[in-house]
Amino acid sequence: MRIVLCGFRGTGKTEVGRLLSHLLDLPFTDTDLQIEQTSGMTIHEMMRTHGEAYFREHERKVIASLRPEESVISTGGGAVMDPDNVARLRRGSVMILLEADEKAIRERIERSTRPPLTTLPLREEIRMLLSAREPFYVSASDICINTHGKNSNEVALSIAHFLSTGDSAPATREQVVQFLEMSGMDAGELEEARDLLTGDAYTPISRFYAVIGYPAMQSKSPPLFNALFSHYGIPAFYTRLQHPDCGAVIHLARNLHVKGLSVTIPHKSAIMASLDRIDHHAAKIGAVNTVVFCGDRAYGFNTDWIGIRDPVHDLRGARAVVIGAGGAAAAAVYALMNLQMEVTVLNRTKERAEDLARRLGSHHAPLSAFGTLAPDLVVNATSLGMDPDRRTPVPKELLSKEMTVFDLVYTPPDTPLIRDARAAGCRTIPGTEMFIRQACAQFRHFTGIVVPVEFARGLL
Ligand code: NAP
Repeated sequence: MRIVLCGFRGTGKTEVGRLLSHLLDLPFTDTDLQIEQTSGMTIHEMMRTHGEAYFREHERKVIASLRPEESVISTGGGAVMDPDNVARLRRGSVMILLEADEKAIRERIERSTRPPLTTLPLREEIRMLLSAREPFYVSASDICINTHGKNSNEVALSIAHFLSTGDSAPATREQVVQFLEMSGMDAGELEEARDLLTGDAYTPISRFYAVIGYPAMQSKSPPLFNALFSHYGIPAFYTRLQHPDCGAVIHLARNLHVKGLSVTIPHKSAIMASLDRIDHHAAKIGAVNTVVFCGDRAYGFNTDWIGIRDPVHDLRGARAVVIGAGGAAAAAVYALMNLQMEVTVLNRTKERAEDLARRLGSHHAPLSAFGTLAPDLVVNATSLGMDPDRRTPVPKELLSKEMTVFDLVYTPPDTPLIRDARAAGCRTIPGTEMFIRQACAQFRHFTGIVVPVEFARGLL
């Protein structure tokens, strides 16, 4: 296993990496030093004479040439901004983020010869870059170490301790196994989870991820994410935590030090109260479907809207109808308005349609108004048509071949609405498209890696 240190410059990666390599008796590579050796130039000279893009190109080459053998690797502060670098660094590695406060970073940089990256005064440059890079650091790392108040030796010792004992207590892992046993999980999946949590397959560096919901047993996320972790050589396991009480399941997840959560019905809004930071898309939609942990902090995102926006990006400015007014409908309205569409919400319960339309600035109308609207795009965001329901939200005689029909229901992919729309000559988009695209965006939050949609589709 390779131990990769990442984080902002001035957090002590080189010094800690060197000490850790002595402690563990492993070879040490500092990618910045390697760049200087292979190019025959200091990074300062390279940046001054050729610019940052040239330096990043060298950095990519050095990262691509790193060997897979056990070693300690220290990376430059901007290395994990590039998803290809992250995919290469993550293969067969544990990724450790070193964090430090602004003052400690500034003092270290002032003592070094590293060039500035912007024309801003150092204090502002640090603040600006830290905030821009934070989501990249959080995604690219498996564990986060706060170096505040510790010298490099203490940081190296705490990493060595983590590598030998892990960060979750055996009693917590046993408790999670009992929780899974009671949730009615498939026997094969349960056996695999038990082995990874408390059996022979457990390793201190194993990272856990889960979908939380009630129900969560129908989710297609575990096989997809486990296949992706295996493909990218990441030592992680994704399971299901099914419970009606969002607070109880978050408590369990924090004790287990899970790295990431997918959130499904009915927890997408309730979970927001347990998070430390929520990105502005999720805050506007009013729902979080992705949580990433870094140290004690929990970050919330919404990727549902990306899964709805991307398949219809060619319909920018069109007239759209969204049927439903729940969480998926909110993501749909937000996504379509992001594409400058004129959106009307239709819903069985009038007050919910009014609320959603007021909150996001769309129109609303009763369900019966569908026939008068002649939309270019119809999005079904109700649960009608979801197995075993055989109903459709739109009478088939109201569908016409000029329409694009996007059914967010994905079990089954071929819903009654999709079949009617196909028969009417409409362009159809099944809910699996949303699922795949929101999952790829979620995987990026979880790991920092960009998965090609086609590749993920092949795994489903
Ligand atoms: P939700 O918050 O429970 O909302 C359900 C909506 O369906 C409500 O607007 C509800 O209307 C409406 N509805 C339910 N039964 C109805 C009926 N018999 N007639 C008319 N309207 C009815 O659920 P959600 O989280 O928004 O999810 C909605 C659908 O999106 C689900 O089928 C889910 O599987 C799908 N989804 C797909 C993906 C994906 O990746 N493809 C992701 C998320 C969700 P009222 O307001 O009147 O109750």
